Amino acid sequence: MTMEITQTQKSRLSSVDFDNLDFGRMFSDHMIDMKYKNGSWQAPHIKPYAPISFHPSMHALHYGQSVFEGMKAYYVDDETINLFRLDDHHERISNSSKRMCIPAMEKDAFINSLEELIRLDHQWIPKTHGHALYIRPFVFASEEFIAARAAKEYRYMVITSPVAAYYKEGFNPVSLTTTDDFVRAVKGGTGEAKAAGNYGGSFLPAQQAQKEGFTQVLWLDAKENKYVEEVGTMNIFFKIDGKLITPELGGTVLPGITRRSVIALANEWDVDVEERRIPIEEVFDAHKSGSLEEIFGSGTAAVISPVGLIHHKGKTIELDREKIGPFAQKMYDTITGIQYGKLDDPFGWVHQVKVG
Ligand code: PMP
Repeated sequence: MTMEITQTQKSRLSSVDFDNLDFGRMFSDHMIDMKYKNGSWQAPHIKPYAPISFHPSMHALHYGQSVFEGMKAYYVDDETINLFRLDDHHERISNSSKRMCIPAMEKDAFINSLEELIRLDHQWIPKTHGHALYIRPFVFASEEFIAARAAKEYRYMVITSPVAAYYKEGFNPVSLTTTDDFVRAVKGGTGEAKAAGNYGGSFLPAQQAQKEGFTQVLWLDAKENKYVEEVGTMNIFFKIDGKLITPELGGTVLPGITRRSVIALANEWDVDVEERRIPIEEVFDAHKSGSLEEIFGSGTAAVISPVGLIHHKGKTIELDREKIGPFAQKMYDTITGIQYGKLDDPFGWVHQVKVG
């Protein structure tokens, strides 16, 4: 498949203040745009980042047939940029698309267009360790019609944004609360897809949690409001009695790529890993008995995010709120070490793009 490339005549790179990056507000010079029509994906077009026009009847606006991904490009040296677990991201956007009745795109088109975009905009990748170029691929129903059935036309786009390290001045443990008022996902629903509407539905509960003084909602299962599932944009791990325990996926939890990496590394280090249902009470009991060692979230944005407090039905457990635990720290150092090319990559997770 041939790719069309239209380079910008006017780079905005000189206007970027790399010392003060605001997450997701500034976008690099180019974007990928690929259309699906007449039953197939067309060739990708890489073009200058610019507004797009659409009719008010555009299907995605009304029915939410829209999915996305989140990944990063890491600066290694002036000739080398690393991408992380590209195959897994392609697999996830394909699975999300399938659930939302969106035609999947070929892996080659996904990877080749991303590589080309990174080559064109590699100077937008911050050089400071921990900083990165955030990559946002997304697909939406672009057909202009309003009827509640799957669209026949789609658009796949990728935009990128330089971002600072999530925790610039050391780790800042988050505080979580469960909620009786809302659920995130039910079995058979769209919880395991990275579907736009899942996030739209989570903002009101998140705002409520923030009003009550917590950082985020800790989601429990929708049926019994008993088993831990995940956090806003993170999977969750508990280190109890030497074991690493994380909720099983089971259809309601987003299969995080950082989660998968954490599990692989823990296995490599001979730490027992349990993927299973975890009653929230088990976490409180472990805290009471002194066997709860660490709690942390995993996700592309922060990589590893220590949890300092969990609130559930009027009860609270607090870990050392100033610090990250030693296991979470080792996990963070190892994953980022692999991503930035500072450590060996025994699993073959890194996809190098040569830009020199
Ligand atoms: N859960 C949800 C709901 C998310 O949005 C994310 C972020 N993609 C994650 C977990 C973590 O996934 P990943 O490690 O692939 O970023």
